[in-house]
Amino acid sequence: VPRTRVLDADDVARAIWRMAHEVVERNHGLDEVLVVGLQTGGCWIAERLADALDSIEQVRPEVGVLDVAFYRDDIGIRPVLPEAVTDIPEDIDGRSIVLVDDVLFTGRTIRAALGALHDYGRPRSVQLAVMVDRGHRELPIRPDYVGKNLPTRRDEVVDVHPEGVDLGEMVK
Ligand code: 5GP
Ligand code: MG
Repeated sequence: VPRTRVLDADDVARAIWRMAHEVVERNHGLDEVLVVGLQTGGCWIAERLADALDSIEQVRPEVGVLDVAFYRDDIGIRPVLPEAVTDIPEDIDGRSIVLVDDVLFTGRTIRAALGALHDYGRPRSVQLAVMVDRGHRELPIRPDYVGKNLPTRRDEVVDVHPEGVDLGEMVK
C-alpha cells in the first residue's frame, strides 16, 4: 500500500511547539487552562503540548483524558472500548479547555466530546487543537490550532505518530 510522508518527526515537533505558542497567546498565559487529550490518538499529543507549554511558561497545565466512545452517534460503527479511561478534573467550571486530537475528519468525535464535557460542568471556553485537519466536515466544527491542513480523499487514511505523519490508502 503506497504511503506518502507528509510530516517528519521534526515537523511534528515544530507543529506542537507552534500550537503551544498559539495557546499561550490566545489565552494570555495558562491560568485556568486544562489540556484534554481524546483517547487514544490525542493523548500523546496532549502530553507533548503540555511539555511545550511548560517550556514556554514554566507552568505545566493539567492534562486530562476523554474517551467519547459512549457519546458517539455512530456507536454501532466503531468498536467501544471495554473500559472507560476518561480522567477529567471534577470541577471544570470556568476552565479554558484545549481539546486535543490527532485527526479532525467529519467532526462527530468533537461533537461527542463537547457533549461529554457538558456533563462535567461549564467551562469558560473550549478550544480545539488537532495535528491534522483532513477535511470532509459534516458538522459546523473548526479547529483553533492545526498542525497541518491536509486535503484528503474519503478513502485515504492519515497515520499520525511522534515519528511523523503519513498519508495512505485505506486497506479494504
Ligand atoms: P471524525 O469524528 O471527525 O469523523 O473523525 C475523527 C476521529 O476519528 C479522531 O478521533 C481520529 O482519531 C479518528 N480519525 C478519523 N480519520 C482518521 C484518519 O485518517 N487517521 C487517524 N489516525 N484517525 C482518524
Ligand atoms: Mg481518535
